[in-house]
Amino acid sequence: MNDIASRATRILQDVFGYANFRADQAEIITHVADGGDALVLMPTGGGKSLCYQVPALLRDGVGVVVSPLIALMQDQVAALKEAGVRAEFLNSTLDWRQAQEVERRARAGELDLLYLAPERLLTERGLALLDELSIALFAIDEAHCVSQWGHDFRQEYLQLAVLAERYPSVPRIALTATADAATRREIIERLHLHAARSFVQSFDRPNIRYRIAGKDSPRRQLLRFIQDEHAGESGIVYALSRKSVEETAQMLVEHGVDALPYHAGFAASERETRQTRFLEEDGIVIVATIAFGMGIDKPDVRFVAHVDLPKSLEGYYQETGRAGRDGAPAQAWMVYGIADVVQQRRLIEQSEAEETHRRIANAKLDAMLGLCETARCRRQYLLEYFGEASGPCGNCDNCLDPPAQFDGTEAAQKLLSCIYRCEQASGFAFGTQHVIAVLRGERTDKVLARGHDRISTFGIGADMDEAQWRAILRQLLTMRLVTVDHANWNVLRLAPASREVLSGARRLILRREMSPRSARSTKGRRRQKGAAAPMTIAAATRITDAAGPEAIPDAPREEALFQALRDWRRGVAREHGVPAYTVLHDSSLREIARRWPQVAHALAGVPGIGAAKLARYGDAIIQVVRDQAGAG
Ligand code: ADP
Ligand code: ZN
Repeated sequence: MNDIASRATRILQDVFGYANFRADQAEIITHVADGGDALVLMPTGGGKSLCYQVPALLRDGVGVVVSPLIALMQDQVAALKEAGVRAEFLNSTLDWRQAQEVERRARAGELDLLYLAPERLLTERGLALLDELSIALFAIDEAHCVSQWGHDFRQEYLQLAVLAERYPSVPRIALTATADAATRREIIERLHLHAARSFVQSFDRPNIRYRIAGKDSPRRQLLRFIQDEHAGESGIVYALSRKSVEETAQMLVEHGVDALPYHAGFAASERETRQTRFLEEDGIVIVATIAFGMGIDKPDVRFVAHVDLPKSLEGYYQETGRAGRDGAPAQAWMVYGIADVVQQRRLIEQSEAEETHRRIANAKLDAMLGLCETARCRRQYLLEYFGEASGPCGNCDNCLDPPAQFDGTEAAQKLLSCIYRCEQASGFAFGTQHVIAVLRGERTDKVLARGHDRISTFGIGADMDEAQWRAILRQLLTMRLVTVDHANWNVLRLAPASREVLSGARRLILRREMSPRSARSTKGRRRQKGAAAPMTIAAATRITDAAGPEAIPDAPREEALFQALRDWRRGVAREHGVPAYTVLHDSSLREIARRWPQVAHALAGVPGIGAAKLARYGDAIIQVVRDQAGAG
């Protein structure tokens, strides 16, 4: 056992260039290398791949990996080859001759890992090939695809149970990032993994910073966020509609951001080109509907931004989970406002779905809104929703800059009465803008025309600005004290529960507006404490990671070397026809930029540089460092 563990560590260091296993990795690897079956649940970016790649290298024979997504398969194989591992795939992108050659090498025992699409494996020919191989293990990636209730259901996955029957002595490891217990039970049942040991890892993604702000001008807010904190970095922006995707992308491009729109309305070939560019080039921002993301394995996505409210926390967590797979700091950023609440509620109300379905959709939306409005730690809230207990994280907006709360009962009473009085005076109800204008005592044309400057609630809310009133209304909407009548120009109506507030029987603790205003002032404060100029997260990490304050003056020099290394990497990636991150991750380049190594062997110990990469790229990297020293 110990022997396996130390051999596994050596492979981790020599081949993959990493010093230590993460969390459960070592245990999973020794268990599988020892012949055991395993079910592995890890969040996206947790490091599932090594859990089968290392045992495949430890055991005799070839590790057979079943993976549903061709693009993922290809990237993984490219990355493995870069690390000197003998890996190949068999899927529909190979022509007959190429496939023959891969099969021949597999039979000859010349492969460590063979990736297969499930439909390929299940053919007569696929199974006949397996019969002839010495198999180290079966890895079933994205195992939740067996779940008929899940959104990624794949018919062929059900038939993978055949592996248990045909090859009872070959260990099997099933992996997924889908958290819930029902899916877990389904995987065990359908893949005949009753004897497997389960490894369930925390779903926390500590390197992701969660931030949610009030929406005033979403595009401007987004642009500022990207320019100030993520200039030149890769990111994904999610929007709800195709139109919004296109307009947002265009706005970003006009301001010099390398943005590409992506939604199901584009031709497949067009979508593919964009996805490939996003994967292979540095610093591209994809603006997309949720059609984008499944199977995106890019490790260095530095931010995921939502300019519209997701429908559920499941969706939000999956989408934000695409940030920071490499473990380096990343941000999940969102702006949301009244219109989002109104829109999502309307979508549910107007859907054709059955009543029970609608009830579930409403509950999911409420949980999502709860995250937006909570004054507690966002991460704690999220993990609790997924059934995990934790303390405040120190890495979300609420932890870093605790929002002020106040007894909002009186303010809520004013707003509720104003909605009521406007309707009473005119015989029909009014929308947000008008009600707030009356509250604030504004003599707009509409206010005057309706005579609402003469009702008792006119001007009783002049002490707060429009943004503050909107924030209060948003909270009353999320608490379902006020409803929006979608069939009638989105006018506001009191919900029955509002009576308790009006009577004073129920007191409301509200969160003070976390508006753009407050988001900006936070930033100002932070800036005073930290460096002089706006920093990218990357720059911020570098500074905090560095040995001490004396490292700060070196930051520009380091940044220049980092950029030079990226240029070099881009060239190599192009030459090899692979995504840049399969050559070396950003985190590796940063470490090199920090060290300024003078000789190739000084690169050993840089995370991500194993023996193969050292041999292949060592000299070239040192040359880049030298050139940079000369230039600087
Ligand atoms: P998952 O499949 O769980 O989403 P991956 O297997 O793609 O995650 O791993 C995510 C990232 O973490 C990859 O960039 C991988 O190289 C890196 N990684 C995995 N294990 C380790 C480790 N022990 N040390 C350092 N980096 C690791
Ligand atoms: Zn927190």
